[in-house]
Parts: sequence; structure tokens; C-alpha cells
Amino acid sequence: MKTKYVFVSGGVLSSVGKGLASAAMAALLESRGLKVTLMKMDPYLNVDPGTMNPFQHGEVFVTEDGAETDLDLGHYERFTNINLTRENSVSAGQVYEAVIAKERRGEYLGGTVQVIPHITDEIKERIKRVGKGKDICIVEIGGTVGDIESLPFLEAIRQFRFDMGEENVIFIHLTLVPYLGMSGELKTKPTQHSVQKLREIGIQPDFLLCRTDRILPTEIRSKIALFCNIKADNVITAKDVSNIYEVPLVFYEQGLDEKICQRLHVKAKSKGLEKWAKISRILTAPKNGTVEIGIVGKYVDLIESYKSVSEALVHGAIANQVKVNLKYIDSEKLESANVESELAGLSGVLVPGGFGNRGVEGKIKAIQYARIHNIPYFGICIGLQLAVIEFSRNVCGLNKATSREFSNTGEFVIDLMEDQRRIDRLGGSMRLGSYRCKLAPKTLAHEMYGSTEVWERHRHRYELNNHYRKVLTENGLVFSGINTEMDLVEMMEIKEHSWFLTCQFHPEFKSKPFAPHPLFVGFVKAALKNKLQIKKTPRKETTKSTSVLTSKLMKKPKDEMRRASRSRI
Ligand code: GLN
Repeated sequence: MKTKYVFVSGGVLSSVGKGLASAAMAALLESRGLKVTLMKMDPYLNVDPGTMNPFQHGEVFVTEDGAETDLDLGHYERFTNINLTRENSVSAGQVYEAVIAKERRGEYLGGTVQVIPHITDEIKERIKRVGKGKDICIVEIGGTVGDIESLPFLEAIRQFRFDMGEENVIFIHLTLVPYLGMSGELKTKPTQHSVQKLREIGIQPDFLLCRTDRILPTEIRSKIALFCNIKADNVITAKDVSNIYEVPLVFYEQGLDEKICQRLHVKAKSKGLEKWAKISRILTAPKNGTVEIGIVGKYVDLIESYKSVSEALVHGAIANQVKVNLKYIDSEKLESANVESELAGLSGVLVPGGFGNRGVEGKIKAIQYARIHNIPYFGICIGLQLAVIEFSRNVCGLNKATSREFSNTGEFVIDLMEDQRRIDRLGGSMRLGSYRCKLAPKTLAHEMYGSTEVWERHRHRYELNNHYRKVLTENGLVFSGINTEMDLVEMMEIKEHSWFLTCQFHPEFKSKPFAPHPLFVGFVKAALKNKLQIKKTPRKETTKSTSVLTSKLMKKPKDEMRRASRSRI
């Protein structure tokens, strides 16, 4: 079958949900047995989002082949069985970089290099390359129609339909239809204007996805249809949902996938959406109640920064038939005096990835608290590094333990590897992408994965310093996962603890609702167990058994133990 292309643009304002809508459509088409792929076009001039501040851009999603990409690629992978690569994420920066490099090599043979046709050709080439061999290629255009930045991309897709033919290319536009409480009306004007903008540049959408808080009545759909020159049947309600995994169901109920297939002359029967319905049922009424988990980080003002982590926790919760309530804790505000009250009521603590030294001491406090109080702890990347620092300082007595990332002096239990020391540029120079990790038998890591070898994705520069492995092991740390090729510690755990597991890689990138990541399943399970135990056991007894356990095995300095038990009484 010839590849068919679906272009998704967005109007009115950003964050209306183009990424999720694209992912949900891919899920629907994939469920019909079609070979689907997805692409994201980002209009910014950064070559990739790797160097962008998470506060501005949210999470950086890492693909198997080590590309640092937009977080929408995370949605794409979570909703489908697709493994994306660096080709699926294109930024204006990348396109310009490639065109300018060609110009420098003299490949344009003296011609004047211009946005049209050189930039647009480069964009079209990239789309064709990704679409090759697939049935459907869904391409999401980042930004909002009307922005100067996205114009070359919109022009390229306009040409693309012209080149490939109407029957092979469709345009889907996502807009917002707000409900004004004051007048009790749904307002269609922003949608009309947004479609006008699109038509000005020669793109007539085939479908409109209207983001609203309610199902659009027929008269509103007809009005939009008339003003936007679209069949009323193709005006689809993209209704707000209580969880993102309902989005495919909302579209399916309105026959969106069927309509797309008809419009593109694709023959593929629907096999129903029972697996999505099942997930939705669990999320709406979980059998095992709730579990409260704390995410301790410094990007908590923009929780999109932790998108894959929070979704992976939801997947772990689905597997345990429980609802996970997340509390985001700002590590910069965490101190000895408030760590107990901030973590009160949490059944598990997670420290996700992070960069720079701001807020690290607060995270260390949280880790120490979880370790001493036997609260399930899951450390990801910097969450491993800080757990090693905490343990070195408070258990091994290495008071000056730190990471070279945070300080110029001290005992670098976390350090730069030789090859990282020579690097003089920030972009794309971390240990990125999939690496093999061998798991030691009879460890928690091995038990969780049920395997002796795993491949996980990385995004970091610093590593555990092998020089300190001996002292850390002697004091009770277990290095349960090793990259044997490079002799690097990938996983670390504490045996005599309810659940204390850390990893240098980012397992969250590989979790999907239908294939929850085993570490997240195990962590949520441990948190649930912890919650049920605390409920069952009188507080005093819990305190006693925990402190006996920890004092025997943790070899903590005495004053730390005293402080810990005092704070619990
Ligand atoms: N900043 C640390 C490093 O570069 C950890 C990175 C992360 O948490 N992803 O090694």
C-alpha cells in the first residue's frame, strides 16, 4: 500500500493537546492492523530540546537510539507499539543546520539558498523518509497556526499534498471551543479564525478536532462546518477526559478512525477498543483504593517536566489496580525541619532525573528520610547518584561525599568518566540511549525484572565512581545492575529495606499502559504494601520494628538514629 499521510496542526492556543490527539489517532489506526508511524515537527531553532530548560519545555524524551526529543514522542510511544528513532523528531534548527551544511559543501551549485524551496524540500524529504514502508504516517506540526516560526513547516505540508495527491494526504486541525459560563454559550469564533489563518496559507483542513469540556451539539458542529468549509460529520469533539487513556475512546465513539480510513481509501477493519476500555475502567474504579507517592524534584512548577515518570507510575498503578495520587515536592524548599511533615502520609518516595546543584540537598534529605524510615524509595538517574552521596555521607562517614557536577572539591563518589572530561560542548554529548545492563541474581532488581539482562535508556553525564565501590559495598549497598562493557554501575539497592531501588537509566521511557515497566509495577506494589502495613500496625510497633531493622543493618552514626527515632515519636 502507498503510504498515506495525516498532518496535524493546532490553532487558537498552545497546549490544547495535539500530541495526545495524534498519539490517540495512531493507537486507533494501529488497532486496525495498520503499520503506523508518527513524527513531530518543532518550529524552534534549537537542534534538539536537549539543551532546553525543563521549566520552559517540559520533559526531554529519549529514544532507543539516543535522540533527545520533544515530550510528545513519549505520548506516541506510550499509545502505540512503535519504537521511534531520531528521524521521528525534527526541529527547525535541525533542518536549517542540514541545509546550511549542504550549502557549505557547495551542494546547491551556486544557487541562492531560500526557505522555499530548500528548507521546504528538506522538510518534505524527511517526512518521506520516515513514511517509507509504512501504511500511515502521522505528522504533528508543533506551535500554533499564525506563528511566524511554523510557516516553513506549514508551507512544506501544503506542497506535500500537492505533490502526493489529495487521496494520500489529509489535514487535521485541532482548535479550542471554549464554553463561556457567563453567557452559557460555546464560542466558535476562535476556531473560525484559526481555520481562516490556515486557509490563508493554502491549507483546507479535512477534519477539525474541537477541544471542549462538553459534547458539541449538532447546531454548533453545523455552524463550524459552514464557516470552516468542512463537512459537519468531520467536526469532531475532543472532549476533556479524566485520564488521557480515554482519548482514543472519545475519538472511536465518533468514528474518527473509520472516517480517516474512508477519506484516505484505506481498507482496514476495526477490531474494537476493548483493551483501552479496560484500562479506563481500572483507572475510574480501581479495586485497591489509592496510594500516595511523592515526587521530589526541582522542576515541580512545571509538572510536564516529569511526564514519563508520572505516566509510568500510572501504568504501575493500573497493574496493581490502584489509583496513584502524586504529590510534587519542591526539593529546594526541603530541609531537615520540614522533611517529615512534607513526606507525611506518603507511601513511596521517588527522586526523578535532574541536573545542576540547585535543590540537591533537599533531595538528599528526602532520600535519607525514606532510607531510615523504611519507606519505599525509587531513585532515577540523579536519584541514584544522590542516594549514593547520602549513603556515603551518613553511613560510610565520607562527610565530603558529592558529585563533580555540584562542586569542585570533595570526595567525588559520583564523577565524570574519562571520555566525558574531554567534551567541550553541551548539546548531545551525554551518555544517551539504550545500553545493556546485567543484573545480579538474588537482588531486588533481578526479582523485579525476572531476567538477568535488560536494555534501558540513558541520559546523563556522571557515573558512580568505581573507586568507592568497595567501601560502599562493605557498608551495605548492593550494586545489582552493571554495564559490563564499560564496567559502570547501573543499578544500586539496599537489601534490608522494604524497597530501595535506584537506577542510572530512565526506565520511565519504556513504560506503556499495556506493558507497564516492571520497576514501576514493583515500586507501586511496595508503596501499597507499605500503606496497608502502616494501617494495620499500631504506629508505635511500626516505629520499633523499623528502627531495630535500620539500626542493625544501616550502620548509621548514632546521632542520626537518635534524631530519626525522636522525629517519629
Ligand atoms: N545530572 C546528572 C548527570 O548528568 C543526572 C542526570 C539525570 O538525572 N538524567 O549525570
